[in-house]
Amino acid sequence: MNFRDFKLHPQLLEGLDAMGFEKPTPIQEKAIPIILENKNLIACAQTGTGKTAAFILPVLHKLLQHKNKGVNTLVLAPTRELAMQIDQQIEGFSYFTNATSIAVYGGGDGQTFVTQQRALRSGADIVIATPGRLISFLGSKKVDLSSLEHLIMDEADRMLDMGFYDDIMKIISKLPKKRQNLLFSATMPPNIRKLAKNIMDGYEEVSIAISKPAEGIVQQAYMAYDNQKDQLLGGILKNNDFKSIIIFASTKEKVKNLSRRLKNSGEEVRQFHSDLDQKEREKLMQKFKAKQVRILVGTDILSRGIDVEGIDLVVNYDVPPDPEDYVHRIGRTARAESTGTAITFVNDNDIKRFKEIEKLIEKEVPKISLPEKLGKGPDYHSSNRRTSSGRGRGRSNKPGNRRKGNYRGKNNDRNSSGRNKRSSQRNKRS
Ligand code: AMP
Repeated sequence: MNFRDFKLHPQLLEGLDAMGFEKPTPIQEKAIPIILENKNLIACAQTGTGKTAAFILPVLHKLLQHKNKGVNTLVLAPTRELAMQIDQQIEGFSYFTNATSIAVYGGGDGQTFVTQQRALRSGADIVIATPGRLISFLGSKKVDLSSLEHLIMDEADRMLDMGFYDDIMKIISKLPKKRQNLLFSATMPPNIRKLAKNIMDGYEEVSIAISKPAEGIVQQAYMAYDNQKDQLLGGILKNNDFKSIIIFASTKEKVKNLSRRLKNSGEEVRQFHSDLDQKEREKLMQKFKAKQVRILVGTDILSRGIDVEGIDLVVNYDVPPDPEDYVHRIGRTARAESTGTAITFVNDNDIKRFKEIEKLIEKEVPKISLPEKLGKGPDYHSSNRRTSSGRGRGRSNKPGNRRKGNYRGKNNDRNSSGRNKRSSQRNKRS
């Protein structure tokens, strides 16, 4: 199949050619025809599958067919990073068109607020927004959504995880009743279906096998005690074939300590976590994208939605607490159809959790022997007890099972109304 088969507007096809997109990805093949038919859709697709183009291309196509006045499409996204990325992709796809877009998100200074407010007032066809920030603009009546035709929710599961349900419902109450709803989510827990039922009459559903890392990722694991990890990592980083590297650690303290140790051993590294303000994060991402920074050490705040091409190595310095974070972390490499390597260090305490990951991805990750000079690592088969989470899918609402919220650090776009009791614990992580 080819993009031309969708009979998309020629100016969009020109943009796709310029971006080097040849064949639609599976989610694009399934979702684009449904969206072109103006049907509501819920789509289960992870980041890295091409989901952004799946929802944006048909919407742009319709916009080019008949351009109305005012905001035509609202895209809600959980984080500013994702909102910015969607906006950048839209810019690419619409390069040869006169469609316009604006991203509005929290976390910036007062000047950012004023700039976004001004941009909103002057209008755009597509608004990409984090819910908290959009609510503040709606409150001050700075945005008119009365001409809206499409509502898109991206990473809906993450938005609900972050406690945005009430904000989303409030935003929806301000939208025209007659509109097309597109809900994209990496997982399909019951609360997503409940949300879909509450906001739309009937919908089509498409699903791309979830929680499976892309085929192009070579996955490997080392069984290593904590005191072996630094030396092991040092050896891996010496491989100059790896030109662009992300190292994940599960808390920001670990990220800071690891970065310091790597620096002391002569590596050029930069750290990415929620203590960085908006501008610092953007600057750092730009440098990383431009390959001016080889190694980024970060928390899971980096694991979702960050779209940087050419990352050839992801190292999990520790096993992520949630199996799905593993998929998201390693999904930073081998974007679209390229290849990449993902290496995980599994210590004695993380064996059980790593087995849950293997269950989720339905694959045993090859265990690589430690270099001889490091001695013996833990025995992978020493923990054979059954794991508790079944296939590990879907973060349930069980208390204690939610330890996400890497996006809820002090720079998060939501206010700190205390709606989520776990937020202080979460902030430590990111
Ligand atoms: P997403 O899942 O939307 O975050 O997209 C992941 C990456 O795949 C992005 O870098 C896109 O630019 C790229 N991409 C999406 N669709 C295609 C396609 N049909 N061909 C090549 N690359 C694509």
